[in-house]
Amino acid sequence: MASFATRLIAWQKRHGRRGLPWQGTRDPYAIWIAEIMLQQTRVATVIPYYERFLARFPDIATLADSGLDDVLRLWSGLGYYSRARNLHRAARSISEHHGGAFPSRFEGVAALPGIGRSTASAICVFAYGARKAILDGNVKRVLARCFGVAGYPGEKRVADRLWRLAEQLAPRRGIEAYTQGLMDLGAAVCTRREPDCAKCPVDRLCVARKRGWVERLPRPRPRRPLPYKRTVMLMLTRAGEVLLEKRPAAGIWGGLWCLPELATDADVAAACAQRFGASVAHAETLPPVAHGFTHFRLEIRPVHVRVGALEARAAEPGAVWLPLEDARGAAVPAPVRRILAAL
Ligand code: SF4
Repeated sequence: MASFATRLIAWQKRHGRRGLPWQGTRDPYAIWIAEIMLQQTRVATVIPYYERFLARFPDIATLADSGLDDVLRLWSGLGYYSRARNLHRAARSISEHHGGAFPSRFEGVAALPGIGRSTASAICVFAYGARKAILDGNVKRVLARCFGVAGYPGEKRVADRLWRLAEQLAPRRGIEAYTQGLMDLGAAVCTRREPDCAKCPVDRLCVARKRGWVERLPRPRPRRPLPYKRTVMLMLTRAGEVLLEKRPAAGIWGGLWCLPELATDADVAAACAQRFGASVAHAETLPPVAHGFTHFRLEIRPVHVRVGALEARAAEPGAVWLPLEDARGAAVPAPVRRILAAL
């Protein structure tokens, strides 16, 4: 156990990632934003989003005082939007309940919206030097291989064993370099496919390497085919403007702006008339756009409708006509941005 940590710390100091925008700071706010953005997202993708976010929201007070729309706009394209909504809620909660200061204890950090046990640990390690264990997807893979832990890590029994291991391994000294080393090892060496064991600092300890189990560990999620859903999105355009609707706060893309959705068997002309008081001058179905979520795949069939006449009626709440350029820059989900870009 001690050898694992010692080797990892020495390796991190020589070969680990350095100079990332969120490294070299003890500011829990900056570390928190980075840890949330890095969930399920690669470092190279995160860097420009992180820099823009910190430039626009440099501290908790600015984030708490901003509107959710502003936050979602900067998040647009990064995916998993509940992360952005939770950041915003958490900033408001810190302002209200912690006098605007980021909690300094693990329990306070872990109680904030959108912060799980591993993320709370990472924040406490990098901001406060606390001896806490992390266990994200990459770390599960490293520990399962190195210590020969069989079973799917999504199962409670396996996850509990990995957590116990992670806690025992966390060193009393050098916790920051150790934690960063675990992250770097999982991201760059002990990768899901074709790990580079020859460059691994813990290869001599690794059970999977010794026994030829590297390909088998960790056991993948039991396969179930993802359900496939279809939807129609209306692109109503008129005089260089396009109609966007705000999604309800809960559910996929909650709080983002989106093209109006229709059931696949709905009558386009009737829907345009009833919902928007718009007559159809011309309608054209465009090539479908596919988008993958964690639990299902979505096929969007965009229908471009050139609006003929528009009834003078009060605008539907949550609907807005925007110049096309503004719509592309609004807080819209990635596939909607792709549809708008093709227009
Ligand atoms: S030796 Fe290979 S499988 Fe084992 S921890 Fe290192 S990179 Fe992963």
